[in-house]
Amino acid sequence: MNRIAVIGAGTMGRSIGYTAAIHGFTVRIYDVHEAALTRAKSANVELAEKSATREFITDEQKVYVEKNIVYEPNLERAVKEADIVIEAVLEEMELKVNVFKELDELTDEQTILATNTSTLSPTEIGAATTRSDRVVAMHFFNPVHRMKLIEIVRGLDTSDETVERVQKLGRQLGKETVEVREFPGFVTSRMNCLIGNEAMNMYMEGVASAEDIDKAIKLGLNHPMVHWSLLTSLGWIVVFAT
Ligand code: NAD
Repeated sequence: MNRIAVIGAGTMGRSIGYTAAIHGFTVRIYDVHEAALTRAKSANVELAEKSATREFITDEQKVYVEKNIVYEPNLERAVKEADIVIEAVLEEMELKVNVFKELDELTDEQTILATNTSTLSPTEIGAATTRSDRVVAMHFFNPVHRMKLIEIVRGLDTSDETVERVQKLGRQLGKETVEVREFPGFVTSRMNCLIGNEAMNMYMEGVASAEDIDKAIKLGLNHPMVHWSLLTSLGWIVVFAT
């Protein structure tokens, strides 16, 4: 696989595109909002510059990020010659199903269609296409260039060949992979929910302050990513309540 198309230029889509580019792939990123494409381009170029200065990537890889990613506002052009399309739009089943129906019509029948869903069923998404054997979930983590894992989740119809091809792609992107049976939340999102809930329970019981529960989880359990942590969860409750 050489040509990767990414659908959605948000947090995950642009980061998947960046990671593919520094590993030598030709990348096209599509988004319904042109402003998202503009933001993705400047974020990726800025990241490449900083990473090259700190010698996390070579100067050659920096050039790949500048030259090998096309930020494409036309879906047909974005996916036309892709070997694999990785979808990273919002986590809504209806939206993903509609995107996959379009991808099924616009891409070559051999193209693998992958979803970066954190929780949803690849079987249900694949059923919207005429190639459910070539639909699979590739669950990347944020930020993609730093996180080591991809969870690979097969739907009921996903073929062994598709799984093998995305496992190989994962290795080419410098990642480890795990194969997970289809279940809401897979392994990692399911575990994250448990940690988030337990943090809320501890706060409710007055075990410690929100800041100290956060600090304990980050430093004591070595969970450096804070997005499921208690302070964030409390933040979301405030957002939903207002
Ligand atoms: P995001 O909101 O940052 O980006 C989503 C992008 O999709 C937006 O730019 C939006 O304009 C675009 N979009 C919406 N509808 C579209 C369409 N029909 N066609 C093309 N683009 C469209 O979201 P995100 O955090 O990047 O999450 C994307 C997916 O990745 C979700 O399924 C999410 O569950 C999953 N995920 C997120 C994380 C994370 O930490 N953010 C980690 C792993 C997986």
